[in-house]
Amino acid sequence: MPVCQTCNQKWPYSKAFKRIMWFNGGMECPHCGKKQYVTPNSRKRSASLTGLVSAIIIFGALILDLSLPGMAILAVSVFVVSILALPSAVRLSNEDKPLW
Ligand SMILES: [Zn+2]
Repeated sequence: MPVCQTCNQKWPYSKAFKRIMWFNGGMECPHCGKKQYVTPNSRKRSASLTGLVSAIIIFGALILDLSLPGMAILAVSVFVVSILALPSAVRLSNEDKPLW
């Protein structure tokens, strides 16, 4: 889970999850109220995770020779798992650093 860089408290899962959905701008820490930003590195990590998930779906479909409904089920389950896993990959920063 992400940790606040000001008070060193862990963010609850629901807060971290919400933070992922609103990718831009800061979000106040639920413990100390200080604004926290997602670090460029964890943004890049979520982007590569998205790429990895697409690759898993495509290769899974090819290897398992899935029918269209099977592929849809695979895509949805891999997608849901990756969304649920995303908050634990997020790292926080006190400043809004540029992506590059
Ligand atoms: Zn805090």
